[in-house]
Amino acid sequence: MRKETICVQGGYEPGNGDPRIMPIIQSTTFKYSSSDEMGKLFDLEKEGYFYTRLQNPSNDYVAKKICELEGGVAAMLTSSGQAANFYAVFNICEAGDSFIMSSAIYGGTFNLLKNTMAKMGIEAIVIDPDCTEEELDAAFKDNTKCVFGESVANPALTVFDFDKFVKVAHAHGVPVIVDNTFPTPINCRPFEFGVDIVTHATTKYMDGHAATVGGCIVDSGNFDWMAHKDKFPGLCTPDETYHGIVYAEKFGKGAYITKCTAQLMRDFGAIQSPQHAFYINIGLETLALRMERHCANAQKIAEWLEKNPKVAWVNYPGLKSNKYYDLAQKYMPNGTSGVITFGMGSREASAAVMDKLKLVAIVTHVADARTCVLHPASHTHRQMNEEQLKEAGISPDLVRLSVGIENVDDIIEDLAQAIG
Ligand SMILES: *Cc1c(COP(=O)(O)O)cnc(C)c1O
Repeated sequence: MRKETICVQGGYEPGNGDPRIMPIIQSTTFKYSSSDEMGKLFDLEKEGYFYTRLQNPSNDYVAKKICELEGGVAAMLTSSGQAANFYAVFNICEAGDSFIMSSAIYGGTFNLLKNTMAKMGIEAIVIDPDCTEEELDAAFKDNTKCVFGESVANPALTVFDFDKFVKVAHAHGVPVIVDNTFPTPINCRPFEFGVDIVTHATTKYMDGHAATVGGCIVDSGNFDWMAHKDKFPGLCTPDETYHGIVYAEKFGKGAYITKCTAQLMRDFGAIQSPQHAFYINIGLETLALRMERHCANAQKIAEWLEKNPKVAWVNYPGLKSNKYYDLAQKYMPNGTSGVITFGMGSREASAAVMDKLKLVAIVTHVADARTCVLHPASHTHRQMNEEQLKEAGISPDLVRLSVGIENVDDIIEDLAQAIG
């Protein structure tokens, strides 16, 4: 199936007489007729549901749809994008390890990976995404276990150079994890460029209606854990909490997601609720249509902002003048996302424009059907100091404009009256 069809029909396949739409399995537990059967499920000897903290059919239908969209082999939902990124990294990094991360990432993820994971004894080595291959290579340590970045960074809109990061990471025998929230698999499928693991905040375009917080992790199944056995003891040596299972031996291409479910979800419990999985699925059904409109609207608005002499600067990878235009054309020729950033020259001038907007609302959100704005320096990224803001590509006057799917002329008229 092509991606537009997967959006509508993927994941859930009803049998004869089954509900046409994926059902919400609103149950914490699942019944079995023998104690032995249930025991086998606990031992991962048999596949099946027994407790929703580990797995639930509704969540699995949606994870499967996202997995098909990304072209992966296994996937799982989480309660938020934050949980997805935490699990994705913690599934292969332990106390005493390090990993490399791009400095241009979402503020919440930066805080999680740089500050909170440091308290667990895991060091984030922060690197400029525009570094050279040599600089990237030199950043690796013996204990470095993965590389993390965002395909299109929120809100810097830096386009991740997959070829560069994949080449160097694989030369060091470690996987690349990419948060693909902004372009979504409709515009970019990182596995096609050698990325090993993809994460999502489904909260954004996948849900698309600002209704549910959620996350997803997808594994390409391509990384050969056993070939780098010494680096990944969690996957390649017996797990005593599961009777000595060696995930990479027993589950092959499914090892990473199985371990992430069996250990991390079991122990941390950041599950998606089946009810919310249902909402995410409804969002996914129109994802391909919406992404097309988000990108078409954003392209027109970015070009309009660029021509407006009162606007100090505009950043949108779809503009020919943009630093990342060529990378965007290479990896996501159909568009990046509906997110634009621009500045009015000063923090105060940008705030004044934001305050005058009528149709466009000020909300702490991005990537849903309604056009909205946010000022990262005083909102999402306010915990960062000036230096960190600069590293993350955020200037004090930066306005993040998330272009919705309304009629583009209405959005432009609102921007025009606010900019004056
Ligand atoms: C919003 C966002 C997250 C965090 O997702 P939540 O669902 O809010 O936890 C992670 N990565 C990116 C790129 C995001 O935009």
